[in-house]
Amino acid sequence: MKMYKNLITMGLLVPFLPVLPPERETKSRPTLSVSAHNPYMQMAIDEALDGIGKGHGGPFGCVIVKDGKVIGRGHNRVVLNNDPTCHGEISALRAAGEALGTFDLTGCELYTTGEPCPMCLCACLWANIDKVYYGCTIKDNDSIGFRDEKFDRLFGDRSAFDEYLTEIDRQACLALFDEYRRMEHVNY
Ligand SMILES: [Zn+2]
Repeated sequence: MKMYKNLITMGLLVPFLPVLPPERETKSRPTLSVSAHNPYMQMAIDEALDGIGKGHGGPFGCVIVKDGKVIGRGHNRVVLNNDPTCHGEISALRAAGEALGTFDLTGCELYTTGEPCPMCLCACLWANIDKVYYGCTIKDNDSIGFRDEKFDRLFGDRSAFDEYLTEIDRQACLALFDEYRRMEHVNY
């Protein structure tokens, strides 16, 4: 071992250092500090800001709360993972399931910066999420280049979910969307 160290000191041996790929980051960083009235929605916005700052995907952050405690959070990682299903809600549902050690999230509420797409809405139902709070609407999601409205039309109207889906802090989430629009990003 001593000889090995000596060889390194003499410059005759180069220790092996793992080369990690640099984390993918966008050239422009989010500068906006957006404030929501609801503290959980604020956490969801912060998640989204973290994700768009790193170029992970769209401005969608999500937290899941049980008995007043955050048990899962996540943001959109579609671009990072090349995974079209890695929406903020899906990331957070996976984190919550892992944290609680169960697939049954009965008694949990979910906060998300954008109204859930049909895939995420179904995932919330499969997970037995009690209630969903969202910031921006499906139309707002559409306005920043996502195809939510088109897909939503295929599945019919949402009147059956009036009690289940509640809009809060839309203005704060719209400011987040403006920030995303301003930044360099990959459309998908
Ligand atoms: Zn979704």
